Amino acid sequence: MKKIVLNSCDKEELAEFVTSLGEKPYRASQMFKWLHGKRCRSLDEMSDLPKDARQKLAEISEILTITKQSEVLSPKDDSIKVLFTLSDGERIESVILTDGKRVTGCISTQVGCRMGCKFCATAKIGFRRNLSSAEIVEQVNMLEQITLANKFTTEGRLTNIVFMGMGEPLDNFENVRKSLLILMDDNGYGYSHRRITVSTAGIVGKMTKLFSLDTPVNLAVSLNAPNQEIRKEIMPVAVKYHLKDMIDELKCLPVDRRKKIMLEYVLIKGVNDSRENALELVSLIKKLPVKINLIRYNSGGDIALKPPSEQDVLDFQKVLTANSLPVFIRKSMGSDISGACGQLAAGYKETLI
Ligand code: SF4
Repeated sequence: MKKIVLNSCDKEELAEFVTSLGEKPYRASQMFKWLHGKRCRSLDEMSDLPKDARQKLAEISEILTITKQSEVLSPKDDSIKVLFTLSDGERIESVILTDGKRVTGCISTQVGCRMGCKFCATAKIGFRRNLSSAEIVEQVNMLEQITLANKFTTEGRLTNIVFMGMGEPLDNFENVRKSLLILMDDNGYGYSHRRITVSTAGIVGKMTKLFSLDTPVNLAVSLNAPNQEIRKEIMPVAVKYHLKDMIDELKCLPVDRRKKIMLEYVLIKGVNDSRENALELVSLIKKLPVKINLIRYNSGGDIALKPPSEQDVLDFQKVLTANSLPVFIRKSMGSDISGACGQLAAGYKETLI
């Protein structure tokens, strides 16, 4: 019989599970604290649960862990890329990005990805499977341990968590939803919703669903094109989810002023980086509550794609700034260890060209 994975359950599921075993519902809160607040990985350590309950639980449930396979430190900027093996042998990567006092954990939500973005190394793997909520949350647990060991923060806490690693988070909505609940619960990991960002390639319908959660997190949208034609060329997902529909959905999101949507724009030489592209982008997004993050293409995607010069990136930024758009250029961190945006491949060979 397949065992119930305790750390994949949100509070409601845990309560349902323990009551089905004849235990009192408050046992679920005790277990939740052990599993997530105290990061306990053994039922034996859950000292306030009766021994017979622990024995019963051990027979039909388990606590899932992921195994750190390797850790690579960037000599350039102290980023750390971590390779994990999952219980079925699949692999994922996560990254710690440090910038002054900011220590960001970038986590994965799928093994591979089915979105096929041309500028992304994960796309070349194709889709293998969704991560469970336990596998998503475990990455944070492990990254905290690495943060502590490297003394990036005194208690090993990350300052920010971004769902920007391998996979499309909104394509694994239910498990991402549960992982968010666990990460934000005061009895769980206790991270503020202001510190968590979910990034999407623009799955129409699911962005609204993300905003309808009780505590909406920050939303980042990987835009990368000023029009449907270019977007379709570099992001096949745009065939199914048309740019216009995506923009219409963004317009309707109940965005808190402090929490503007982050639009990510990977600049690719000769594809989407011209002055005309910048001007077209201005008219596309001018009325949206957004800030823009420009990212110079990092190699790893389609071999034909090249990064623009740094000057071209600055020129593109100038056009947006001149039109009163808040725009930042994202530091390319971890690129020397293939841990930057669009470079995660977890050692898989290409299955798609
Ligand atoms: S950029 Fe994100 S959505 Fe696109 S293929 Fe890569 S992992 Fe998937």
